[in-house]
Amino acid sequence: MTRYNLPMSATPARLSNQTLLIDADDTLWENNIYFERAIASFIADLDHQKHTPAQVREHLNRCERTTIATHGYGIHSFRRSLIDCFEQLSETTITPERHARIISFTDTIASTEIELLPGVAETLQILSQRHRLILVTKGDRLEQTGKLRRSGLQVFFSAVEVPAEKSDAAYRSVIERRRCDPTTTWMIGNSPRSDINPALAAGLHAVFIPHACTWILEHEAVDPPSGNTRLLELENFPALLRYF
Ligand SMILES: [Mg+2]
Repeated sequence: MTRYNLPMSATPARLSNQTLLIDADDTLWENNIYFERAIASFIADLDHQKHTPAQVREHLNRCERTTIATHGYGIHSFRRSLIDCFEQLSETTITPERHARIISFTDTIASTEIELLPGVAETLQILSQRHRLILVTKGDRLEQTGKLRRSGLQVFFSAVEVPAEKSDAAYRSVIERRRCDPTTTWMIGNSPRSDINPALAAGLHAVFIPHACTWILEHEAVDPPSGNTRLLELENFPALLRYF
């Protein structure tokens, strides 16, 4: 692959004293699998007679884009999308029973224990001794900081940033507020659309760590880095220790 511009074969010298901006959902812990389970339950329960499951999913994606634009990310927004999708695809108005059942599909998302991805805690502990770590996760502030608290990982981070959307402008604002030097600052995450492309556009380096179950709304081709920005793709989170 040509997207790497750091040598991958030889063991490079480890970088020191960098600022590492680190994504949370599907980078540090599982997240999207719970939403996928709720969606599968919703589609099975809907059991639509005219639309295939794939068509229902397509429509739900459209509902999610619309909801996110006005209500942002998070479980509340997701619930609203499921209800919208139901109402738009079925000719009947939603009953209180049906409403409650649809909401129940999402209950486990909020209450489920945080499931860290392999090696994350150990890796963060070592990285936090060598670098400055800042968590950068988009979405609902209370929801995201609650997950961080439940994860037990907050001790490794010197700051937490929760922008509504991870845009180029959001990264520039983090750079300014946290006094980051872009030449020694890296954004690390699983989403090309939110973690990699806008960070590169803001002049940061980036590390792409794909997750097999990344949310479809986060899919995007990874942009080639330009100028002095560098891009790494790693197979998992502990592989960061080879470079940092
Ligand atoms: Mg993520």
